[in-house]
Amino acid sequence: MEIVRSRLIPASLLRAASTGAFQLKEPLNYRHGSRLQPCAGDGDRRTEQIHEPASGRVICDFICSGRQEIDLAVQSAKEAYTTWSRLSGLERSRVLLEAARLIREQKEDIAIVESINTGKPITESRIDVDTAWQAVEYYAGVAGTLAGQHIQLSGGSFAYTRREPLGVCVGIGAWNYPFQIACWKSAPALACGNAMVFKPSPLTPLTAVMLAEIYSQAGAPKGLFNVVQGSVETGNLLCASKGVAKISFTGSVPTGIKIMEAAAKTVKHLTLELGGKSPLVIFSDCDLENAVRGAMLANFLSQGEVCSNGTRVFVQKDILSQFLEKVVARTKGIKLGDPLHKDTQMGALISKPHLDRVLSYVEQAKVQGATVLCGGDVFVPDDPKLQDGYFMKPCVLGDCRDEMTCVAEEIFGPVMSVLPFDTEEEVVQRANNTELGLAAGVFTRDLTRAHRLAAALEVGTCFINNYNVTPIEMPFGGYKMSGFGKENGIAAIEYYTQLKSVYVEMGDPECPF
Ligand code: NAD
Repeated sequence: MEIVRSRLIPASLLRAASTGAFQLKEPLNYRHGSRLQPCAGDGDRRTEQIHEPASGRVICDFICSGRQEIDLAVQSAKEAYTTWSRLSGLERSRVLLEAARLIREQKEDIAIVESINTGKPITESRIDVDTAWQAVEYYAGVAGTLAGQHIQLSGGSFAYTRREPLGVCVGIGAWNYPFQIACWKSAPALACGNAMVFKPSPLTPLTAVMLAEIYSQAGAPKGLFNVVQGSVETGNLLCASKGVAKISFTGSVPTGIKIMEAAAKTVKHLTLELGGKSPLVIFSDCDLENAVRGAMLANFLSQGEVCSNGTRVFVQKDILSQFLEKVVARTKGIKLGDPLHKDTQMGALISKPHLDRVLSYVEQAKVQGATVLCGGDVFVPDDPKLQDGYFMKPCVLGDCRDEMTCVAEEIFGPVMSVLPFDTEEEVVQRANNTELGLAAGVFTRDLTRAHRLAAALEVGTCFINNYNVTPIEMPFGGYKMSGFGKENGIAAIEYYTQLKSVYVEMGDPECPF
């Protein structure tokens, strides 16, 4: 199988991944249309080591971008912005369509790198890449439709509005969907005429650079999409940069709060896609098999490391034992192992500290009175090269109560907490009793009840009789402390443009002086 065409990830390197010799030496910064080594003498030169979650091996390291690197990336983006923003939507659309085609063409390469770097199964990485090119293709279509409004006023005067880009936008990503996040942010930003400087998570720096290469190959002007690497310090520099008009952030609530504070100092536009602790409500009149499928989708994709996961699973009391029996049997059947193996259904968690954190939530749940119905401990694969990987058996917790830590806090791992309930009124109140509001799910055959709940739940997205389906046409974003602003759909355009009003006088100005 020919696996790589990208200049960034040589084929030999990927083959080496399966033999234990994967070590990337290529530069991971991308500026002004080229892969670059970090600027000499820039900042504190902090180095990050990147581990392959499935083996624990170091696969690459990089030097964090400092002030000089950030300034150059923002400057390069500004230069690209002056030409890009003046193109017609249709002209921008052509570049994005070609980028979408290239992503499709390189889908397997990108998916392999994503699985090596995140630990998620290759079958899921392929779907992530699909949702990524779909975003680029969707916004290619939208680019040509951007328009203002004409407003007729008295005396023949009129006004019109211009939908204008913001300028240089910064994208800051989390580690769970690295390539998808880079596309979900850059596609609407570029379609609207903006340029972008993107910083992936320091745990997953690889595929954003592949995207940068693709945009260049597709004909984007040099500097339109730049990648800087680093963690908190690099992020701080980006958020403080005076040349940046907008920050679109995906990550945790505490970091989102810091970014909001930083953005306030220079009044930057902001989109915050933050964490969740979403409720999944299963009524006894549901199709039980579908509800069990929904609970699995709501908890165990990407090793449970999904922001919108429905980890508080409320089940109506009269079907609780049937539900538990089925959900535990399915959870026990999940195939763990090598993320690159076609039959693997769950891979490794992102890092050793994160694995330890997730396991400690299970221990704490036991102390607080929950019952571990399955999983919740480490998994050691037979394959010797995976024995230091960060695997854990997916866990279902019974006998949970709302005040337990496992129910109140985002765990971001494969841990489902099941909570019984009696009435609709009670479950709505309990489901909303959280500061977070990213998503929710409802399983019922009662159509009116489903829509009543969709209206009553304080969340940005409500799934009815399914879960974690995120078509690119559907806006996605949080309520409450899960953030604000929308990604995907036409709605995202609002967050990457500003509206200028132009008043045109057709008579003589009336003046009281
Ligand atoms: P994180 O907040 O630790 O880091 C996210 C990004 O912010 C990283 O790139 C990090 O380097 C950067 N960063 C950290 N401190 C910064 C600062 N002070 N200024 C600027 N940048 C800074 O989150 P994570 O651990 O990478 O991701 C997991 C979290 O992301 C979870 O809470 C999850 O729910 C959330 N998430 C939300 C969505 C969504 O769409 N709502 C999607 C994926 C993940």
